Amino acid sequence: MKVELMHDVCQGHARCQERCPEVFGTDEVEGKCVILQPDVPPELEHKARLAVKNCPEGALVITSG
Ligand code: SF4
Repeated sequence: MKVELMHDVCQGHARCQERCPEVFGTDEVEGKCVILQPDVPPELEHKARLAVKNCPEGALVITSG
């Protein structure tokens, strides 16, 4: 599974990081999401999907898997 960020859409709530800190971090300058593992390993897919679903801006996209 791969995940991508639509950077312009992200508003920096960090809800993604709360749900799955292994995959999503926060840029310290802009306060927006940073994807730490764009190729999500199988054991983190469930958590990463929850994070994508809970992004209030719809800024995260699963691009495969
Ligand atoms: S939850 Fe969505 S809007 Fe908030 S930081 Fe993560 S990607 Fe950005």
